[in-house]
Amino acid sequence: MRSIGGVPIAALTLVALLPLACADEVEPDAEAMSSDGGEMQARLDQFAPVTLGFDESLLDADQRRVVKELVEASRHLDDIFRLQAWGGNADAEALLPTGDDSESAATREYYRIMYGPWDRLTGEEPFIEGAGHKPHGAGFYPDDMTREEFEEWIAANPGDEEAFKSETTLIQRTGDGGLVAVPYREAYTGHLEAASENLLAAAERANNPSLKRFLELRAGALLSDDFYDSEVAWMRLSDNLIEPTLGPYENYEDQLFGYKISYESFIGLKDPVESERLASLVENLPALEAALPIPDEHKYLDRSFESPISVVTLIYAGGETAAGIQTIAFNLPNDPRVREGEGSKKVMLRNVIDAKFETNLKPIAEQVLVPEQSAKISVDPYFTRVLMHELAHGLGPDYVTGQPDLTTRQALKDRYAAMEEAKADAVGTNSLRILTRSGVYDEAFLEEVYIDHVADMFRCVRFGITEAHGLGCLTQFNFLRDRGAITYDESTGLFAADLEVIPVAIAEMAHVYLMMQATGDYDGAGAFIEEYGTISPEMQGALDRLAETVPVDIRPSYAVEELMADW
Ligand code: ZN
Repeated sequence: MRSIGGVPIAALTLVALLPLACADEVEPDAEAMSSDGGEMQARLDQFAPVTLGFDESLLDADQRRVVKELVEASRHLDDIFRLQAWGGNADAEALLPTGDDSESAATREYYRIMYGPWDRLTGEEPFIEGAGHKPHGAGFYPDDMTREEFEEWIAANPGDEEAFKSETTLIQRTGDGGLVAVPYREAYTGHLEAASENLLAAAERANNPSLKRFLELRAGALLSDDFYDSEVAWMRLSDNLIEPTLGPYENYEDQLFGYKISYESFIGLKDPVESERLASLVENLPALEAALPIPDEHKYLDRSFESPISVVTLIYAGGETAAGIQTIAFNLPNDPRVREGEGSKKVMLRNVIDAKFETNLKPIAEQVLVPEQSAKISVDPYFTRVLMHELAHGLGPDYVTGQPDLTTRQALKDRYAAMEEAKADAVGTNSLRILTRSGVYDEAFLEEVYIDHVADMFRCVRFGITEAHGLGCLTQFNFLRDRGAITYDESTGLFAADLEVIPVAIAEMAHVYLMMQATGDYDGAGAFIEEYGTISPEMQGALDRLAETVPVDIRPSYAVEELMADW
């Protein structure tokens, strides 16, 4: 799972650990919300351009070659994701305007960052004429296949169930009107073979044994669709400067069933000192699992809490994570077999977090919160909350209680992703309250966390509520509003966290999401989304104000692409 919220690091102990944005790593490219163009330029201006750089001197000649191969492998995975997002992207050239006017150029750029002709912020209407309605199953299923057709096929052909529900198959039509499951390794052979060769070439240059092993195993996994061993090797990376994460991971793009996972890549440079210090937070995880606001029978007290944290500078990203809203942190692997044995690893993308805080969260807080509260917004509570969100993905039920073969992901299907994101937010903030009680943070810091949580929901809802994080945030906001934990002043249009009420309301909310998972309550999740998943007029008013003044997200370019030409 990943997080697309915002930034910085934490309290007392943590504050001092991470320097605020290094100027050479985050470079906002001036020009954010210029509105001198047409409709497509206005859409593009919702994304503030930033260049993500890094300190080239950290890399020796071999390491530069490793990075170069990894970037090239990432480009192949990026090509695959473009096809996973929509099969029609194979013929995109035919759809795109070719003119050299600024609107045509903006359309081509918007298509590039949306990975298709649909605006990921607004849902299903194409911004390019003739593209039609967005298929919920993205490029994983035939565009015109319905859920019913898929389910009827499995009912009639039970032997196909495993392959059809596999994370790593495409469903295609056969010539005679039937359906067939095609493994990724066959569907994307050309790109996967090329990426695999890049990884082997990188492995040859890698001087860190754990990195070499991961790259070799992952090169094979791309060709076999069997990722288990390489996921374990990824968990066991140690003393590595280069932190590569690449393969098929998240199921967000499959909005038909949530079965299929998408290729993506993150190439980072690790900061070993910061990562080590942050890892001390992990010591608190068993206590936080024990303190979850649910009955003990649903807790996993004997699970592995070996949970490494990497803080990295992102130097390149591609595939699903690069589409639309940018990731700031992630928690992988998703495979419960690996998580049980090895735990999971959090990777925090420090320079992305810094960039988002400056371009998004801070200006949003100034527009939607009462001044006494927006004045308290700072990067430290933000970064800490992001960190706890990632840790919270590793807390709570992985399986439906009493059904050891049924994961919560399988039980909640298409509703899982949004509810898991919301759970991670609610459990994350509630965990910071618990840590405050035990003296890790102080009350003033905790207040800032609550204020940050409220401001952050506006940013997150702006990502679009057809997306898991956006919908997850909207249900939280409406729940907290309903409980009186967020107040609204009609005369100013400003919101505030009620600091008396919000601690209790967030604990209650964490309980709701956790129990949904513990009981595998698909219908309950649907009813909850129905009740809390609508944008209210007061929130819409705030969103309209933000639309005019604050970019929704960043649009990164990567300095490595130019630098590596000389490597
Ligand atoms: Zn998340």
